[in-house]
Amino acid sequence: MNSEDNAGKEFCVVCGKEISGALGTAHLYHDGRRFALCCPTCVEMFSRAPARFASGEHPMTIVQELLDNLRWNEDGR
Ligand SMILES: [Zn+2]
Repeated sequence: MNSEDNAGKEFCVVCGKEISGALGTAHLYHDGRRFALCCPTCVEMFSRAPARFASGEHPMTIVQELLDNLRWNEDGR
């Protein structure tokens, strides 16, 4: 993605939605970089594995793994 083409635009690092000017947008910092999140759910996902999202790993892969882990935790009593 060419960041110059997207000047002034921000995209949610978790779901990839464009969130420039959107209400409810949150920003978290990790490793000195700022990450934009579109909603509480994405904030939750990011805060569970900030280093992985920051590393440039494909977000959907990380989200899927996190959801799988949550499901395991809920099922195993
Ligand atoms: Zn999002």
